[in-house]
Amino acid sequence: MNFEVLTPHSLASALDALASNEKLVPLAGATDLMVYLEAGTLAPCTFLNLQELWELRPVLALNGSLTLGALTTYRDVRLSAVKDHFPMLAWAAREVGALAIQSRGTWAGNIANGSPAADGVPALMAYDAEVDLASKNGRRSVPLAAFYRGYKQMDRRPDEIITAIRMPLPQPGWSDYYRKVGTRRFQAISKTLLAGRILLDANRTVKDVRMVFASVAPFTLRAVQTEGLLRGRHLTADLIGDATRAIQDEIHPIDDIRSTEAYRRRVTANLVRDFLAACGPVC
Ligand SMILES: Cc1cc2nc3c(=O)[nH]c(=O)nc-3n(C[C@H](O)[C@H](O)[C@H](O)COP(=O)(O)OP(=O)(O)OC[C@H]3O[C@@H](n4cnc5c(N)ncnc54)[C@H](O)[C@@H]3O)c2cc1C
Repeated sequence: MNFEVLTPHSLASALDALASNEKLVPLAGATDLMVYLEAGTLAPCTFLNLQELWELRPVLALNGSLTLGALTTYRDVRLSAVKDHFPMLAWAAREVGALAIQSRGTWAGNIANGSPAADGVPALMAYDAEVDLASKNGRRSVPLAAFYRGYKQMDRRPDEIITAIRMPLPQPGWSDYYRKVGTRRFQAISKTLLAGRILLDANRTVKDVRMVFASVAPFTLRAVQTEGLLRGRHLTADLIGDATRAIQDEIHPIDDIRSTEAYRRRVTANLVRDFLAACGPVC
């Protein structure tokens, strides 16, 4: 199989190249791209290899917020101390493929690939991540929760590269929850997945909450309506029941090769119950 690869050595030259040829395809770990190439689903193209761009190097900078350089891999996160502040990132990293994929695959590639079944994106979204993008014409940031518009449709122009992912440092008191349901415990694509975070006060009133789902909509879904139902309310068994019903109006699961709509609906409701009940005894 023949394909061309362009390897720029600075972000400026990479952005120049993209500006003059928007058909160039950015290539990071290539763990998604090589699968498409093998399957013949990738149109003939020239790859723009990002690996030599020091501006995108895998930094994990903790400084009031967390910045992941665009070439940060799952393994980088698993080996770093950021997991003390962002445990879900480590849990999600552990779920992605096996060690070889975790060593090559990047968080930015997971975002830009736009799969509704991505494992990294829900954890990032639950931490209120922002995506930093650069083009020859300038830089901008987009909240990850607003990045997707449809199946594989996202707020990234063809002349833009993701340079980094940023997240605010979580305040004390939040509880994190991450559960992927697949055919097997490991190395399976999810049938449904919930990345959740909740902040309760001493009276068990929900001060704030994030609920992000994979594989139950055309893109990674932040369930803002169900979050809204919970916010400001006392966390009771009745409220949890209401949340398991509300989530049914927000998700749009389908029958496909991995699962059925009915299974996804039922198990997603179970995940919501498990997440909320995991916060302690509910009266
Ligand atoms: C065996 C196997 C198992 C896998 N298991 C899982 C799994 O369990 N869970 C999961 O979520 N995924 C899984 N994947 C998919 C894949 O590993 C991840 O999506 C990974 O994060 C992709 O990152 P990458 O750096 O390899 O992206 P690449 O393949 O290099 O690129 C993916 C897409 O992102 C674009 N892109 C990459 N970087 C940038 C950037 N900085 N700016 C703009 N666009 C960019 C590329 O153009 C391409 O469209 C698996 C893949 C394989 C082959």
